Order: sequence, then structure tokens, then C-alpha cells
Amino acid sequence: QAKRLQTHQLAYQTGMEDESTKLICWEAELLAAMQNDELVLYFQPQLNLRENKIDSFEVLVRWQHPEKGFLMPRQFLPLVEQLGLSRQLDFWVLAKAIQTISEWKKQQLVIPLAVNMSPVHFQQDGLKRKIKQLLQQYNVSPELLELEITENTAMHDMEKGSNHVIELQQMGIRVSIDDFGTGYSSLAYLRRMPIDKIKIDRSFVTDMAGNDSDMMIVKTMIKLGHGLGKRMLAEGVETEVQLQLLHNMACDTVQGYYIAKPLAEVDAIAFYRAKMSL
Ligand code: C2E
Ligand code: CA
Ligand code: CA
Ligand code: CA
Repeated sequence: QAKRLQTHQLAYQTGMEDESTKLICWEAELLAAMQNDELVLYFQPQLNLRENKIDSFEVLVRWQHPEKGFLMPRQFLPLVEQLGLSRQLDFWVLAKAIQTISEWKKQQLVIPLAVNMSPVHFQQDGLKRKIKQLLQQYNVSPELLELEITENTAMHDMEKGSNHVIELQQMGIRVSIDDFGTGYSSLAYLRRMPIDKIKIDRSFVTDMAGNDSDMMIVKTMIKLGHGLGKRMLAEGVETEVQLQLLHNMACDTVQGYYIAKPLAEVDAIAFYRAKMSL
């Protein structure tokens, strides 16, 4: 790593900062960011519509960069992937999330957290071992951890993918499908993957109120999911009208700016206490 930094410095001084040098520089910065806790977790509540209570929070990563400021995932995740650091990032987030569950528990807040997993990572055998180890280390029960995976082409090996899901569930960890409806094989997923929860992609929810076919699609997805015994969550709920429609469609859980934006930890706790009258 020191050598890389040196290389970068050299390139900088001689004005040869080309694409590959930039990437090398970013790699060192990213690794340092994880080490120095420049990455931070934000938390977005998932509201249970039937019981009007917060079921859980989704964990979303941000980068508080010392010079470049507050960076959103779309500003650095593509780079993370390009550099082959997705696994490291996922581990970092996972460890932080499990640590957070344990800290919240000490404040009498027993709240499940949902963590995003890149498909590459999800496929690896080391993941289960790592999770087990972290849960043990922080004395956290597996029911408080949920993993979100997308229906991505990298999961094309459905046989293998579903085995992973089964093994995680045998450990007591819940798995949900993210961005549902945007992938190539949504229905095949439903048939083969023993997942607990389906997150309907924001794109369907956004236009629902003004678009009959989107409305019908969402309604039918919820019916279908329920018929298969899955819990249904709608993403990207931004208006009262959308919330009401989803309520009428018997959608189980909603997430979106209308309920709350992703919040810093203190704000998430305050939001939870207020909503749950604690
Ligand atoms: P995602 O998993 O689909 O997460 C939902 C994204 O939608 C979040 O963006 C959230 O802030 C945003 N969102 C939530 N409600 C609304 C709404 O009502 N309206 C609109 N317009 N947007 C809403 P964010 O935090 O920028 O994250 C973007 C993506 O980056 C995530 O999409 C996820 O794929 C990825 N990501 C974020 N954190 C992590 C992480 O820790 N690990 C991995 N592997 N991926 C992550
Ligand atoms: Ca997600
Ligand atoms: Ca999503
Ligand atoms: Ca998304």
C-alpha cells in the first residue's frame, strides 16, 4: 500500500496522472477510508403498514471524504466494484451493522437491520463463516440480520444461489430480494429462491398513481408474493397517495422518503423512539 501511494505521488508530481494511476490512488484511499472509519452507515426505516410500526432499518453506506465531502454510493460504489473491493466493502458494512445491532440492544432497542450484499460476495462460501463469527463476537441473534440481494445476472446460477439462501436461512438469517421486477428472471427467482421478503423496485411505485399498468403490476406482484407466502415491501414511497394505495393493496411494509430519508445513527434512533412512543 505504501508503495502504491508512492507511485501515485510520483505520478502526481510529474503530471502523469492517467486513468490507471487515479484508480491506484482511489484503491489506497478506499482501503484507508474503511480503516479510518470514514465510511458511515445511514439507516432508512421500513414501516409495517398493518401495525403502523417500524419493522427494521435498511443500512446504506456513505463516504465522509476528508476533502471531497459527503459521497453517496453512486459516486463510489462503481469504483469499488471496478477495483474488486466489493467484498471488502460488504464485510466492512456487515461488521459495522452487526456491531450497531449489538450497541442498540444495550439501549433496549432490539431492531433488525437489513444489509445490502453484492452478488459476487453473496456467492462466496466464506460469507457464512464470517457472519457466524461476527454474530458470535457481538453476541447478536441471527434473526436481527437480514441480507438484501438483487436479481442480478451474476446470480444466474440459480441452483447454487438458492443453496446459499437455504444455508443462510438455516442459520436463522433472513434474505430478501431487492429491486424486484427489474431483473431478467424475476419469476424464476420467485419459483426457485426460498426468500422471505420481496422489495418491489421504486420505478414501479413512482408512477403508480398516474399509470394504470404500473398500478396493476404492483397490485399483482403483491398478490403473487402473498400467494407464495412472501412478505412484500414497496420501495421509494414518496407521497401520501402512494402510501394509501399500497395500504389498500395489503402491502406489508413500505420504505421511502415519505416515511423518512436515510438517517444518521442518532437521528434513526430518535425517529424510532418517536414513532414507537418509547
Ligand atoms: P438500494 O439498495 O435499492 O437502496 C435504496 C436507495 O434508494 C437508497 O439510495 C435510498 O436512499 C434511495 N431511496 C430510498 N427511498 C427513496 C425515495 O422515496 N425516493 C428516492 N428517489 N430514493 C429513495 P442510496 O443510499 O444512494 O443507495 C443506492 C444504492 O447503492 C442502493 O440501492 C444499493 O444498491 C447500493 N448500496 C448502498 N449501500 C450499500 C452497501 O452498504 N453495500 C452494497 N453492496 N450496496 C450498497
Ligand atoms: Ca437495498
Ligand atoms: Ca432497492
Ligand atoms: Ca436500486
